[in-house]
Parts: sequence; structure tokens; C-alpha cells
Amino acid sequence: MTRTPLYEGKAKILFEGPEAGLIIQYFKDDATAYNAQKKDSISQKGVLNNLISAHLLPALGAIGIPHHFVERLNLREQLVKQVEIVPIEVIVRNVAAGSICSRLGLTEGEALPAPLIEFCLKDDALGDPVVAREHITVLGYADDDELDEIVYLTEKINDFLTGLFFAIGVRLIDFKLEFGRLESEDGYEIILADEISPDNCRLWDSQTNEKMDKDRFRRDLGGLVEAYSEIAKRLGLNIEFEANS
Ligand code: UDP
Repeated sequence: MTRTPLYEGKAKILFEGPEAGLIIQYFKDDATAYNAQKKDSISQKGVLNNLISAHLLPALGAIGIPHHFVERLNLREQLVKQVEIVPIEVIVRNVAAGSICSRLGLTEGEALPAPLIEFCLKDDALGDPVVAREHITVLGYADDDELDEIVYLTEKINDFLTGLFFAIGVRLIDFKLEFGRLESEDGYEIILADEISPDNCRLWDSQTNEKMDKDRFRRDLGGLVEAYSEIAKRLGLNIEFEANS
């Protein structure tokens, strides 16, 4: 079947879905870092992210988080509800790592006194700059009510995912979320969109602090597919790889 592409991002392609209001998310093997200055293709990465995200979003749904996931269609694709993406990346940090260390002089691995939520403008040309809530409301990217809802959902998601990963011997260091506006009869609703996978979470083994996420690519550590597979395995997922990929 030929599909009409709607949008191609760094790690996924969105295709027109089987009916209005639904689209298909196709997970590529492409890996990028440092605002796409570093690029590669890592065989089977997309398959693993599709599998892991298709597990985590429904798990969040079970605790009442509204999300866009409908069903996994095959190894690389999932059906999702079409939303208007809020152009803000919501970063949650439990432990200092990555960009916050150089930006604020923190030491990687330092536990933060409380979970920290940061907002970044989704704009590759500007390098996804950190923005304050006031930038978002004054410049019209989202309004106060939407941001209140996003923060409420994000705190619940962090609590739930921290526990879920703790139970499988993994520390949830930080992660990125994206939200969208889903049209409904009486207006619209803010729902969780995009993906939750080791591509947009930092996950460290609880015993050894070994990195089990995209930092394996960012920092040339190797073993990315093995690490993502280990996450999928600990989540109890049945890993199936694509032939000849
Ligand atoms: N992140 C992401 N996409 C981005 C920026 C960050 O998924 O465009 C995730 C990243 O994987 C990490 C968290 O958000 O889990 C915090 O990332 P950070 O700001 O430290 O940026 P990085 O070190 O990735 O440049």
C-alpha cells in the first residue's frame, strides 16, 4: 500500500492514516544528536522504540493519562490520533545529566532536590532553546490553562514512569515529552503525543549506573541496540526484529 507522507522528522515519519483523525507513526533507524550535527543509522532502533513506546503509552493510559496511541500495526508502525502538536518540548529531570550540567554547572549524576520541569521551544534552527513559561504564553505557543494541564500530566507521568522503571532495576534520570491538542465535540483536549522510548529518556541501570539510552550513541559508547533490547526485555516485551534491516 502506498502511503502519503505528511511529515518527516529526525527519527519518525508520519503518514496519512486509514481514516480522518488517525495517522501512522513510522519509526526510522536514524539517530541524530547535538541538533543533528551527529547522524547515523542504527539497525533495529526504530523497531525497539516502536515496541517500547507502544507499551508505555497504554500503561500511562491505564492511570488516566490521555494519549494519542491507538495500536501497534507492525514492527515499525503505530496508529495514533492526529493532534496539533504544542511546539514545546517538556523536559523532566530527576537527576542532573546532559545539557543542564554544562548550562548550570551541575555534576552528572547529582540527584535534584525535586523533579525539575523545563520547557524548550521546538525549533531546530534555534537549537531548541530553553524558554520560560512567560515566553510560551506571551508569544502564544500555549496558554496558561494548557500549560497547567501539561504540568499536571507531566508530574503524574514522571511519578508513574519513575516507579515503573525502578521496578525493573532502571533509574529514570530525565526524559522529554510532547503534547498535542486533540479536537473534540466541545473544543479540544491536551493529550500526550510523540513517543516515550530510550531515544528520549535517560535510563541508567540501578546497580551499575550503566547508560541504557541514546547517550550510548551521543557519546560513542556502542551497544545501543543491546541496551534498548535489555530495556524491552526487562519490561517483559516480546522482541521481534525485522529481517534484512
Ligand atoms: N531530549 C529529547 N529530544 C531533544 C532534547 C532532549 O528527547 O530534542 C531528551 C534527552 O534524551 C534527555 C532529556 O530530554 O532524556 C534531556 O535532554 P538534554 O536537555 O540534557 O539534552 P541533550 O543532552 O540530549 O542535548
